[in-house]
Amino acid sequence: MNTAIVLAGGSGRRMNSDIPKQYMMLKGKPVIYYSLKAFQDNLHIDDIILVTSDHYIEYVKKNILDDTLDKVSKVIQGGVERYDSVWEGLKCIKESGYVFIHDGARPCISQKLINDCYEAVVEDGACIAAVPVKDTIKIADSEGYAAKTPDRNTLWQIQTPQVFEYDIIKSAYSSLYRSGRFNGVTDDAMVLERFGEHHIKLVYSDYRNIKITTPEDLNTAEMFIENIF
Ligand code: C5P
Repeated sequence: MNTAIVLAGGSGRRMNSDIPKQYMMLKGKPVIYYSLKAFQDNLHIDDIILVTSDHYIEYVKKNILDDTLDKVSKVIQGGVERYDSVWEGLKCIKESGYVFIHDGARPCISQKLINDCYEAVVEDGACIAAVPVKDTIKIADSEGYAAKTPDRNTLWQIQTPQVFEYDIIKSAYSSLYRSGRFNGVTDDAMVLERFGEHHIKLVYSDYRNIKITTPEDLNTAEMFIENIF
């Protein structure tokens, strides 16, 4: 049983809007619709859990879910931080299998990417979508001056989906909550790096798989989405 946990529990502070980014309209549908549809249409996915804020649970059931999204079995309340929302999703899963954790704010996810991640997780047990960085990256000091330049050839920008064997990611998240060492956790692979022993394969993704974060990202996603859906 393979499950997609689609995250839509954020408040979207960086969008300067009252509507969280995952509920803004993109080509006539809410942003979150496209991720749900991508997992719905993928043969490897059996079940979809949507994690959102309490406020949006009824909205989603009324306005987004219909017969064409019948793999969505649960719409549950998320937590304060992204990792809290993931944890709520993980606790709902009762059977082992693969878990695809995806930011609902990334609508431009393709079938090819889901399939590539599936192949990688079968092979390696843990994998994350990623693209090589195009720009030089600097580490800044606390005064805002360039302090160091890591070798660009080793740097990847990390996206979602992040895909794991259920037992591997559940055990890493259990350790996270037992230890209380939450500082700096921004993705799922970090939880595994901190609390697991497992290698995490980078799956060459697509630069179009952007996360809608600031207002101009919506225009960019509108261009990309036409070629995907
Ligand atoms: O805040 P950030 O851009 O890292 O959020 C990535 C994804 O995680 C978004 O789809 C957002 O809705 C989701 N999220 C969540 N619960 C939170 C914070 C973020 O589901 N508490």
